[in-house]
Amino acid sequence: MFRDFLSRLRLKWFLARKSLDYSYDFTNLLYKTYLHHNKIIHYRDGHPVYSLMTPAIFSKPSANFVARALFRSIQNKNMPNLLSLAVNDVCNAACEHCSFFSAVEEKGRKNLTLEQIRKLLADSQDLGVSVINFVGGEPLMRRDFHKIVEAVDQDRATTILFTNGWFLEARAKELRQAGLDSIFVSIDAADAGKHDEFRRTHGLFDRAIRGAKQALKLGFSVGFSTTMTPESWQAGELQRIVELARQTGVHEVYVFDAMPSGRYQDRLDLVDNRQWIDEMIQWSGPLNRDSRYPGITFMAHMSSHCSVGCSCGTSYFYLSPYGDVMSCDFNHAKFGNALEEPLWKIWERLSTDPEFCSAKWGGCKVKDGESRSSSSICTGRTESTPTPLEVSKP
Ligand code: SF4
Ligand code: SF4
Repeated sequence: MFRDFLSRLRLKWFLARKSLDYSYDFTNLLYKTYLHHNKIIHYRDGHPVYSLMTPAIFSKPSANFVARALFRSIQNKNMPNLLSLAVNDVCNAACEHCSFFSAVEEKGRKNLTLEQIRKLLADSQDLGVSVINFVGGEPLMRRDFHKIVEAVDQDRATTILFTNGWFLEARAKELRQAGLDSIFVSIDAADAGKHDEFRRTHGLFDRAIRGAKQALKLGFSVGFSTTMTPESWQAGELQRIVELARQTGVHEVYVFDAMPSGRYQDRLDLVDNRQWIDEMIQWSGPLNRDSRYPGITFMAHMSSHCSVGCSCGTSYFYLSPYGDVMSCDFNHAKFGNALEEPLWKIWERLSTDPEFCSAKWGGCKVKDGESRSSSSICTGRTESTPTPLEVSKP
């Protein structure tokens, strides 16, 4: 009896001394695997953030994230933790690489109403979503966007806005009050002229940087979302953007390697071509160990066998501005419409499809020649240079 008491006391003493170190090591290892770095990039409202794409450590959404992972394994079932919700189908820019207009836009369809979005957000959160990306179009062209943010159960999910930055400076305060956590501002070149040319919108770079600075002042986690092509990587653009990010003070540079989808659907040079992407990831290593620099994360790392793999259909889905459910932003094959049948049924269909029922090692399905031949992958309409839906200077 006494020996048992002593043994338990010893265990408590051991845990008291070691559990802090263990939690520290576990967290570092978790992020190093997932992101390819374990640098804390920001303390948002007191909570450490490793990437805008994950809930802050020990926040309520991070508890939900972990709890859902447990249910997932108990039920031996795919359950989504990440949702990208396109809140509208209009944009003031007309970017060269846009995956959206050439493929999803179908003239005459109505965007989801606020009430419909509230319902779909609740349904998504009931399915397990704990990270919500707001995308578009340009989400801030929706006047009621702050009400969409308010509609999220923020105890269960972290929220991230992807914006081209045009309207950000004016609306950042309203978004902070609505409870938005993080903002990615698109920056594809460190030079204003080049960026505006790529996005075909004069003045966008200056407004994007002003918006990012305003968001930083208000306490958001802020990042640059950057699309790299093999050409821009070769030209040293990523190095310049990371330097700009350091000077601006943003917390993260999230790098999308250009996708052969939407307006780039005919860029077959991007298919089965990973060497330049691996070079970028390798290049980022020393900077990710340097605390003076923002975190540099790569979609291509996270979707590789070194992290969680391409996870659309296993833990991720995309909702179009019309309620269509797709596997991700870049695959425009539809699995159902959430206004016409329950979201969980559509998720069941998507997550049991042979192409999507398990994470794909080796990276992106949209970039994989073999996967692209499947009827479950569709990269856009046939026009190679479609006209943007709306190119206006507000
Ligand atoms: S900002 Fe560019 S990439 Fe984003 S929706 Fe508008 S045109 Fe497309
Ligand atoms: S198909 Fe590509 S873009 Fe879509 S989730 Fe997978 S890795 Fe991401």
